[in-house]
Amino acid sequence: MAKIITITNQKGGVGKTTTCVNLAASLAATHKRVLMIDLDPQGNATMGSGIDKHQLEHSVYELLTDQADARACIITDTECGYHVAGANGDLTAAEVELLQLPRREFRLKMALMPVMDDYDYILIDNPPSLNLLTVNALSASSGVIIPMQCEYYALEGISALVGTINKINQRLNPALKIEGILRTMFDPRMSLTKDVSSHLVEYFGDRVYRTVIPRNVRLAEAPSHGLPALQYDKHSRGALAYLALAGELIRRTEQEATNNTEQAVMT
Ligand code: ADP
Ligand code: MG
Repeated sequence: MAKIITITNQKGGVGKTTTCVNLAASLAATHKRVLMIDLDPQGNATMGSGIDKHQLEHSVYELLTDQADARACIITDTECGYHVAGANGDLTAAEVELLQLPRREFRLKMALMPVMDDYDYILIDNPPSLNLLTVNALSASSGVIIPMQCEYYALEGISALVGTINKINQRLNPALKIEGILRTMFDPRMSLTKDVSSHLVEYFGDRVYRTVIPRNVRLAEAPSHGLPALQYDKHSRGALAYLALAGELIRRTEQEATNNTEQAVMT
């Protein structure tokens, strides 16, 4: 059954979409079956995966509003190595329409049920806000990856986000937990980076990924070619960093599965 991971941070420009696309490509490169869902009306993750957001036959908007089922929405003949449920501006309307629908916080979770066994990982990219779309992503997921830049104000933003995750955890989805904090556009030469980074580790402990994503121009260029960095320049530092992240994520997932089995045996 697929592990669903939401990539979120209400701050824009922190590397959510870059992480979603490149982690999806890296997991796929290690032969995991991966679906990427674009939940941002800007459709950047869709375009960055080589799919024209203006040419979608069925988009995530239709998935959330029951106008198309998951298999109709998911594009399987992609060149990026993973499957994609794409988004475009139509999704803006979903925010409003969802308000009127029953079980409005669980639309995505319900829509994904039929394809849960088709994938090992489902990654969800999110808009830079905390709205009903994000709530749908968090309700459907078992883990959250929070990409962040090591800036001073980032810590403040992250505590608000952790508060939201805790609320979702109590009210809508008891299975939800923070999968990991990912330091993006990392520049170890800056002393502020080091300060913020050590605060993060102090607060979140081993939830902070050991892998850091360096600032790397290939990561910024790849989307304009509609490619993940792994396909655009597989030797780039950016591509290699996301491969390392995929490895860390897989190891953690396997470790958790082992711990759960051990617990089950003991109880
Ligand atoms: P978000 O989805 O959180 O808004 P993006 O992933 O779109 O953030 O990243 C914001 C901008 O920064 C984009 O132009 C992207 O190409 C660039 N970018 C993201 N990560 C890196 C990185 N590690 N190195 C260089 N540029 C990056
Ligand atoms: Mg984005």
